[in-house]
Parts: sequence; C-alpha cells; structure tokens
Amino acid sequence: MKYITFNHQNTSAIGIGTWHLGEGNQAQTEAEMQTIRYGLDHGINLIDTAEMYGEGLSETLVGNVMKDYHREDLQLVSKFYPFHATPKLIETSLKASLKRLQTDYLDLYLLHWRGDTPLSETIFGLEKMVQAGLIKNWGVSNFDLADLKELTSLENGQNCRINEDLYNIGSRGIEYSILPWQKQHDMSFVGYSPFGSDGSEYLNIKPVIKKMAQSKNISIHQLLLAWVIRNHDLLSIPKTGSVAHMQSNLAAIDVQFTKDELELLDKSYPKPTQEPSLETI
Ligand code: NDP
Repeated sequence: MKYITFNHQNTSAIGIGTWHLGEGNQAQTEAEMQTIRYGLDHGINLIDTAEMYGEGLSETLVGNVMKDYHREDLQLVSKFYPFHATPKLIETSLKASLKRLQTDYLDLYLLHWRGDTPLSETIFGLEKMVQAGLIKNWGVSNFDLADLKELTSLENGQNCRINEDLYNIGSRGIEYSILPWQKQHDMSFVGYSPFGSDGSEYLNIKPVIKKMAQSKNISIHQLLLAWVIRNHDLLSIPKTGSVAHMQSNLAAIDVQFTKDELELLDKSYPKPTQEPSLETI
C-alpha cells in the first residue's frame, strides 16, 4: 500500500466509498462487507460514509465490519445533511451515526453540502462536538472556493480539516483554484466519484482512454483511478461492492503514467483554463 499525508495522518492512497452499500439483500450485503474487509486487510485505512447513504444503511454496514478491527487504526468519515446543520441537530445526527457505526468517535464529520444554516452556527456546533470528544476533526463537502474563503474567515473556520468535492478525469474543475488553495491552506482534499459514479451519465469515456488502457494492459477503471491519484496529493474514495473490483482498484495504485500519456489525456480532457462553477453529483 502507498500512503499519503491526509488530515495530518498517514492515509492509504485510496479510501473506501460507501454510497449505496447496505441497500441490497442479505447476500449482497455480505458480499459488500467482505469487500470492505478485503480493502482494510490490504492496507486501506479510511472509510467514507454519510447519514444520507441509504438513510443509515451504509453506516450500519460499515459498523458491522469495523467492530472486528482496531478502531484507532482506521479513519472514519461521516457526513450530516445541511438541514441538520444547527448545533442541536448536529449533535442528534452525530449520536445516531455513532450508534450505527458502533463507535464512540468519528475522525472527521462533514457538512455534506451547504444549506441555509449560517456557517458560523455549524462551526459552533462542530467545535462543541470536538470538545465533547465525539469527533476528532471536522470538514465540509461540495464547497467551492468562495464557500471555503467565507468559511475560513469565520471564528474557528480555519479548523476545517478537509473539503470533499467531485473529481475525475471528466470533471477537473477543482484543479483550477480549489485544490491549489486547499494545499496553500493546509486543508486536505478528497475527490469523490473517480469513475463518475454509476455509468456514463457523469463521465464520457472517450476512445483515448480505451486505447491507453489496452496498451497499458489495465482496465478502464484502473486507468481512471490511477489518473485521479497520479500526483499523490489528494485522496480518492472509489466505491465497490465486489472483491474483484476492490482488487482491481488496489492494483491501480501502482499504475504510473508517462509525461506523454498525461499530455495525450489532457488533449481529450483539458485542464480548466478559468474558474468553472463547481460540479457536484
Ligand atoms: P464511483 O465513481 O466510485 O463509482 C462507483 C461505480 O463504479 C459502482 O457502480 C461500482 O460498481 C463501479 N466500480 C468500482 N470499482 C470498479 C472496478 N474496478 N471495475 C468496474 N467497476 C467498478 O462512484 P460514487 O459516486 O459511489 O463515488 C465514490 C464515493 O464517493 C461514494 O461511494 C461516496 O462515499 C463518495 N461520494 C461523496 C459525495 C459527496 O457529496 N460528498 C457524492 C458522491 C460520492 P461495483 O460496486 O459493482 O464495483
């Protein structure tokens, strides 16, 4: 396993995404739990979930896996709905998540996306949860640069440890200013949906990808994931419910690109040349 510095800690080059896990029948849920175990047994040490995912089903599944592992060896990230972003509702949501996850703390607790609650109130609530020892740190998700600047201008806003946004070869907007800004401000970045989520709706696989994957003797998914983590400067959190796909994703960590290959990909999937509006899924 390769490790990067993320959230001030040694973190595996990929984490485990869990959206839609735990929503199927018993056999499927067992296969999904086995998949997470396979990932953890092969060095992955971060799991990303949310109260939204299956309205708690994903957290429940993660909790059932985690109880067999040393809690302190893992970073557990969960998220609360924007309509739970007041201090009182944060506490209620967090306690429910902790119960489902069968743990007494989260490493990171994220505002899933920005809603109507003033950020200052949300920060206040999150800081209270840090003081109570229920979370180690907190962060945000689906924030653009203006949101991040506003957040960090508020009291204790600089304590925001991470921001999690969409990032894959077809959605490169964060490269323009969000990623550089976060690096400058010591705020770690998580890129979600490395494969464009589920199917072609969010990511157009162009012939260059198919050809390059073939010539490198890797799968399209391996190319997509290896590309996202090519600079070792952010965390990607692919989701899979299949051990075979987990094996493939783990192997993608060792895939490297030549300068020519990266330039060829840039031609079909250009870097942003101006500030784009934030893309989300
Ligand atoms: P991904 O881009 O990770 O794609 C998941 C899809 O890819 C699934 O259909 C999965 O199927 C398939 N897949 C995974 N590995 C392989 C492989 N090696 N070969 C072939 N197919 C593969 O989608 P997500 O949108 O789930 O994003 C990842 C995670 O990011 C989420 O699970 C969630 O934790 C987080 N997220 C956060 C958001 C936020 O707002 N903060 C928004 C969206 C996602 P299979 O299971 O059959 O392998």
